[in-house]
Amino acid sequence: MNPKLLEKYEPVIGLEVHAQMLTKSKAFCSCTTEFNAPPNHNTCPICLGHPGTLPALNENLLRFIVRMGLATNCKIRERSIFARKNYFYPDLPKGYQISQYETPICHGGHIDVELKDGSDKRIGITRIHMEEDAGKSIHDFGAETLVDLNRAGVPLIEIVSEPDMRSSDEAYAYLTTIKSIVTYLGICDGNMEEGSLRCDANVSVRLRGTEPFGQKTEVKNMNSFRNVQRAIEAEIERQIELVERGEPVIHQTMLFDANKGITRAMRSKEEAHDYRYFPEPDLLPVTVTEGYLEEIRKEIPELQRARRDRFVSQYKLPKYDAGVLTAELSVADFFESAVTSLSAKNDESIKSVSNYIMGDVMRLMSERKQDIIQLQLQPKHLSELVDLIQDKTISNKIAKDLFPDLLGSTEAPKSLVEKRGLIQVTDTGALRETVREIIAKNQTQFGQYKAGKTNLFGFFVGQVMKATQGKANPEMVNELMREELDLG
Ligand code: ADP
Ligand code: ZN
Ligand code: MG
Repeated sequence: MNPKLLEKYEPVIGLEVHAQMLTKSKAFCSCTTEFNAPPNHNTCPICLGHPGTLPALNENLLRFIVRMGLATNCKIRERSIFARKNYFYPDLPKGYQISQYETPICHGGHIDVELKDGSDKRIGITRIHMEEDAGKSIHDFGAETLVDLNRAGVPLIEIVSEPDMRSSDEAYAYLTTIKSIVTYLGICDGNMEEGSLRCDANVSVRLRGTEPFGQKTEVKNMNSFRNVQRAIEAEIERQIELVERGEPVIHQTMLFDANKGITRAMRSKEEAHDYRYFPEPDLLPVTVTEGYLEEIRKEIPELQRARRDRFVSQYKLPKYDAGVLTAELSVADFFESAVTSLSAKNDESIKSVSNYIMGDVMRLMSERKQDIIQLQLQPKHLSELVDLIQDKTISNKIAKDLFPDLLGSTEAPKSLVEKRGLIQVTDTGALRETVREIIAKNQTQFGQYKAGKTNLFGFFVGQVMKATQGKANPEMVNELMREELDLG
């Protein structure tokens, strides 16, 4: 977008995020939430909305939302009620969705998110409430639409932010922080591509320096973190262009077209539903005691930012590295488990474990699209590899070659090294012998070196490493080579 226009207009963004809870059963019945079951398999009279059935609140849904509320500095209502949100849709068998309306259980919170420049920004959380998911309409069968109700009644929480974000970067940072919190809390897997985290973006623009917000639109249909950012950028651009032309921004829902990178009007809010919310008569009010809050407080682990800061102070890692290592809970756990099993826990070894994870391990994770657990690398094997480098049993080069063989292997690096005869040659006599042989074999280069072409030094060292299949200790080869070349 034209940067001049962004100097003139300020975007205002508020996000509504739905997170699917990792409870074993649905929100108000005992059907399983398991993925991949045959269509309409995980259903019962309650989630199918048969007359005369009664819902009952899944206690873990309450537990999970209270964890989220406490982790985001919300106030937790002592007493909140459920409401019916009425609308007609084929994937909504009851004709209404159970949600919360005027008394969301969590409200008035905030989170701090780290922006690209390393600074922090506080974003307000308006409310977090419980609700149930609808089923899925499947339109892939020509003229017919099929309905799968396995998802109907799966528990969701909706996290509504204040309109506190001022750029797509800030929205992106907010959303990734929400993902980090829900995954650290163990309440949602945070996967946007699979729909367990969904985001609607409310966007408006106003002239910089002016107080009142502009008319907002709501952008939907983004299935990745990147696409949320792209969609917001496209919508900001569209609105600025409208305002520049003197046309009004209309209150409507926009759909993001990821292929074209544009937003398109879906329906006008004017003809939007009147949900006729009213209190759900079949469910008791939810009451939360101080004792219960105390219990849930104990279930909240150290979250990403606290863990990152601890990694910096405890392991002397740069803030950037600590941020990368703690971005995903499983990676942070892996790192700490590897450090625990190091036999020499010095700064150098710890940094080396960190470098391996940030380098080879993460490269393989992205190449194979696997998480660190799926890679099947045992943390204690990585620490043993680092120990072997530290005590000079093997060179860095050998370690790098060996590394891929540790994946999926139950054999310890030490035994692999022994079996393959990879132990580093550190015997001065033997190395000096090899160095001399290499010089003798390459008399032309030797002459050139002596005549002043000193950058041939690397060539000689390379030849020795080749002759020893990488097993020679590189520092020793350097030292011996220097002596022999300069003597000879
Ligand atoms: P609605 O009545 O359309 O549901 P709400 O006031 O409930 O609107 O807000 C829904 C979301 O939109 C919230 O995340 C809020 O922060 C955001 N929002 C509200 N007003 C604006 C605005 N003018 N520009 C951008 N976002 C906004
Ligand atoms: Zn059910
Ligand atoms: Mg609203």
